[in-house]
Amino acid sequence: MEQPDPFGFVGLTYDDVMLLPGATDVIPSEVDTSTRLTRRIRVNAPLLSSAMDTVTETRMAVAMARQGGIGIIHRNLSIEDQANHVDKVKRSESGMITNPVTTTADASVAEVDELCGKFRVSGLPVVEPDGKLVGIITNRDMRFVRPAAKATTKVHEVMTRMPLITAPTGITADDAMQILAEHKIEKLPLVDGDGKLTGLITVKDYDKTEQYPLATKDEDGRLRVGAAIGFFGDAWQRAGTLVDAGVDVLVVDTANGESAGEINIIKRIKADPAFKNVDVIGGNIATRSGAQALIDAGADAVKVGVGPGSICTTRVVAGVGVPQVTAVYEASLAAREAGVPIIADGGLQYSGDIAKALVAGAESVMLGSLLAGTDESPGDLIFVNGKQYKTYRGMGSLGAMQARGKKTSYSRDRYFQADVPSDDELIAEGIEGKVAYRGAVGTVVYQLLGGLRQSMFYVGARSIEELRSKGKFVRITAAGLKESHPHDIQMVAEAPNYRR
Ligand code: 5GP
Repeated sequence: MEQPDPFGFVGLTYDDVMLLPGATDVIPSEVDTSTRLTRRIRVNAPLLSSAMDTVTETRMAVAMARQGGIGIIHRNLSIEDQANHVDKVKRSESGMITNPVTTTADASVAEVDELCGKFRVSGLPVVEPDGKLVGIITNRDMRFVRPAAKATTKVHEVMTRMPLITAPTGITADDAMQILAEHKIEKLPLVDGDGKLTGLITVKDYDKTEQYPLATKDEDGRLRVGAAIGFFGDAWQRAGTLVDAGVDVLVVDTANGESAGEINIIKRIKADPAFKNVDVIGGNIATRSGAQALIDAGADAVKVGVGPGSICTTRVVAGVGVPQVTAVYEASLAAREAGVPIIADGGLQYSGDIAKALVAGAESVMLGSLLAGTDESPGDLIFVNGKQYKTYRGMGSLGAMQARGKKTSYSRDRYFQADVPSDDELIAEGIEGKVAYRGAVGTVVYQLLGGLRQSMFYVGARSIEELRSKGKFVRITAAGLKESHPHDIQMVAEAPNYRR
């Protein structure tokens, strides 16, 4: 792209613009908030949780997918630990579990207990080494084994033996539900003609389907999950292991997505048949040419944001970045033509910023600080002067970059500092802090989507697509921004969707 006149080319961000109200007969509760996440994947809520070590691990990813969005597991973890998080999300709920966790007749009850805890399940099918189903062991079977006897009691002593109520592989969801109800059982093992276990259907999963009707699920009814990778060191191996664990989307997560290394790994992934079922998100970029480079490399979505994040110091440390509304708009000029969705990453402070990002050209948004204070983010609550907080830190903060030790940190290579010999020589591009505790993610997402629904009502849009085409901005001044927030009053009660 030609260099635009730097003095005429103004960068605007969320606080610089407002959406114009328009004619409407839209009712907020009736709008459709579904959107494209990538070329192939749709979500019912345009929300991603950030790949940060104070935001997204298993619990957040499960909660986000249940609410209709998706979580991206961070990569400040060993490959094995990150793949484990992906595996746990994929196993957390499903129409049919195709590869259930199992045990054997000679395992101990203590071992079963441990597996059940690890995978948060309440029982396991018992199989022979060749996969033949011989029984099932559930909480009910283990209830009367005294804690002291768990290590010495074998599964075969307490399990419920075959013949069990089973069903053939390929049974429909409705038929399976009928069998579960008829026999008042909670687990239905699926077996092939030789009696070998091929899957498991549980009543818990049906309950979840009713409880979370908008959940983001794959073709097998499992929650969808994404995971971040880089391109240095063992990134290729990380990508492969994540795919083996069942990841739906890989996010190539670097602070400058237009770097040669990132372009190469995207091309390599897109050319390798082993990755054919996985979509790849490239990022971050903040210009039209950056978006074009990722699209040309084959990215299935492009993530925009250089420096807007609440914990980010890139713009002051390096003097580089583009205010986010302009960055999203510029990137969308390339993406719209190519039919590739944009994700607006970072800098959102209020629910109203979601609609602004979508009208600027994004199809979804990625959130860090808005989700970091919830129960589902990693880390404990902290109390300061009687108020509750959770820690939140940039992945380019010293704490995050030092977390995994010299050279093995996966956070520091996001900022192209994998080769820095000692911690003292790291250049931080983020800070560490705390955000107010906000309770369950479900409540926070409800408010965020509620705000988006109100935006859609004001604009007169029944769908995200319509919002994006109908929405119009007015640029505001500092006085306009001041007028937009509550003013000339002392707040005596915090609204759930407004804090200063
Ligand atoms: P937030 O929603 O808190 O405003 O922004 C979260 C986003 O900031 C993340 O999704 C990520 O793209 C970006 N980010 C996370 N950590 C850092 C950091 O240390 N430095 C920079 N430059 N960006 C960060």
